[in-house]
Amino acid sequence: MATTLESVAREVRTCSKCALYKSRKKAVPGEGNSHADILFIGEGPGQNEDREGLPFVGEAGKFLDELLATARLKREDVFITNVVKCRPPNNRDPLDEEVRICTTAYLYDQIRLIKPKLIVTLGRHSMHQFFPQIRSISAVHGKAYKKAGQVYMLMYHPAAALYQASLKTTIKEDFKKIPEIIRQIGEL
Ligand code: URA
Ligand code: SF4
Repeated sequence: MATTLESVAREVRTCSKCALYKSRKKAVPGEGNSHADILFIGEGPGQNEDREGLPFVGEAGKFLDELLATARLKREDVFITNVVKCRPPNNRDPLDEEVRICTTAYLYDQIRLIKPKLIVTLGRHSMHQFFPQIRSISAVHGKAYKKAGQVYMLMYHPAAALYQASLKTTIKEDFKKIPEIIRQIGEL
């Protein structure tokens, strides 16, 4: 097991554990505060992230910055990563096997090292890592759930919400609840 976030990131950048390494330009380990209270987990890098090696830098990333601001947060306060660290070709969904290999190698170590008070999943793929039985985000978004000692909020994906007016309002309302949830976590 990796002992620092930097060593996880180093391994990710040269990883060839699953087939996604073949088509990536840059792997995206994630970035942020290594002692963050909040860990955001998206799906996987898109074209811009693949080019820059950083998470959420395209349109969805700009919207994520806006959402963070509604929760009075900055990128430097939180840690942001993805379920898979390399871009699936043509932005297809990551395969179950790719997700299994990548999360086993990296995501679970990142969670152990950061020890966030709150994990925020962005989109269905991320939610299914922790709550495989939940079928639809619409029934569960914006509330806190505790499982095996870890608190989660399950959110829509910013890229999906960006282009759908009703979801855009919903995801903003959900992000506004984050500070209060963080305050309540000792009591949950
Ligand atoms: N969408 C994601 O899920 N992750 C990113 O890093 C960018 C877009
Ligand atoms: Fe390695 Fe994950 Fe990239 Fe696959 S997606 S090559 S497991 S870093």
